[in-house]
Amino acid sequence: MAPSLENNPAFNRIPPWVKAKLRPQAIEIIQRVYDWVETECIPAERVVQAQLQNNRWKTAPLIHELRKKAKAQGLFNIFLPNHFKESPGLTNLEYACCAEIMGRCYWAAQTMNCHAPETGNIELLAKYCNDAQKEKWLKPLMDGDMSSAYSMTEPDRASSDATTIACSMKRDGDELVINGRKLYGNSQMNDELGIYILMGCSDPENPNPWARHTMVIVPARSKGLTMKRNLTIMGYDHAPEGHGEYVYENVRVPAANIILGEGRAFEIAQGRLGPGRIHHCMRLIGQTERAFELALIRCIDERKKPRGKLIGEFDSNIERVAYMRMRLDSMRQIVMNAADTMDIMGNKAGRYAIAQSKVLIPKMAADIIDECMQIWGGQGLTQYTALPEMWTYARFVRLADGPDSSHAHQVGRDQMKTAKGFETRHKQYQQRYHELCKQWNVEEDIF
Ligand SMILES: Cc1cc2nc3c(=O)[nH]c(=O)nc-3n(C[C@H](O)[C@H](O)[C@H](O)COP(=O)(O)OP(=O)(O)OC[C@H]3O[C@@H](n4cnc5c(N)ncnc54)[C@H](O)[C@@H]3O)c2cc1C
Repeated sequence: MAPSLENNPAFNRIPPWVKAKLRPQAIEIIQRVYDWVETECIPAERVVQAQLQNNRWKTAPLIHELRKKAKAQGLFNIFLPNHFKESPGLTNLEYACCAEIMGRCYWAAQTMNCHAPETGNIELLAKYCNDAQKEKWLKPLMDGDMSSAYSMTEPDRASSDATTIACSMKRDGDELVINGRKLYGNSQMNDELGIYILMGCSDPENPNPWARHTMVIVPARSKGLTMKRNLTIMGYDHAPEGHGEYVYENVRVPAANIILGEGRAFEIAQGRLGPGRIHHCMRLIGQTERAFELALIRCIDERKKPRGKLIGEFDSNIERVAYMRMRLDSMRQIVMNAADTMDIMGNKAGRYAIAQSKVLIPKMAADIIDECMQIWGGQGLTQYTALPEMWTYARFVRLADGPDSSHAHQVGRDQMKTAKGFETRHKQYQQRYHELCKQWNVEEDIF
């Protein structure tokens, strides 16, 4: 029987309109994800941290252990859409509830094989690979036996415009020869990394810029592929996954590794990102809720009493807490609306709502976490809390999977297209005003 939603911390923050749409099987999964994160993950955070100190580039043994356990309990790959036989069949909206809970612990999604970039990569391989490719690459990813990286961005190109991607892919018999440089995608230093899904330029002279690029699977330890360095993100190495900077020098991969076909990278890229952006945003909300809870705890800390008052007794902080709460709740409405729009109308029709989430959520999350740091005083900026790492995650989601400005640009351009309609309506108001002035003998204003 599905658990009750009344006074249940797993559901307390979920808006009523969402609760009304949750099916019994989804309610049961959300409850299990909540219990998993609260009892298995959050209390283990500092143990994982300690294990990583011993070996920065090996996945912590505790995480391996939890992955096995989550798999045995059927809490693995729950992000999978309905068409997978392994899918629990959650809608985007139902999974959004799970993603928020996972976000409460930085690596909880990993224990359930629901983390980025794996989720996007698994969907991509499932959607566009042939059976042989799926057996070789998709299966180990879904089993959690290997990790993968998505490799598109380049240091010498504006990668928000993927038509400019230059990494060269030349056909030589039944092989592709690859030369170029790439930024990001997980670090090779972790030996679980098995493949890169690489986007490169295979037909630079094609008059159609959308048909010049190809996606191919590159085994992580291919000859000629060198990792120059792990890129730190605002000083964090993000070990044990990291972000590599790579050089490809005459790397040869079998043409059989091409996904979908030469020149078809854009077809693939377009299918990849909608749900992933929603997952990132919901996890960010979960993380920001944690930051908020830390701030509340600080507000009642008896050891901190400037001028004899608790931190939470200052009006400025009472107001701060109120705004944080209200903003968090409005963030959830925005992303859940995007998830629901995708469920009802499809990913394409959900474009505006997805962009709205991608543009607003990371900024609002970073802003709230910043306020939490302020409540904590100087310690809020140190390793006393996870707040600085949380802030960095929110900051990086503004860029990862494409900069927020490009989404805002698209929304702005679409809005501009509505201007003519308003102009026409405005003229109709004027015309009617003119008629009313005549009818009621009122002197007409010129404006
Ligand atoms: C932590 C992190 C992880 C990442 N992980 C990956 C990964 O796994 N794989 C991968 O391939 N890449 C990854 N990226 C790279 C990320 O996807 C790119 O940084 C992003 O797409 C922007 O590309 P760019 O850096 O080349 O910036 P540019 O394209 O040079 O854009 C810079 C700025 O130009 C402006 N701009 C660009 N386009 C527009 C537009 N259309 N409208 C308005 N303004 C615009 C914006 O201000 C934008 O911020 C990651 C980045 C970060 C920070």
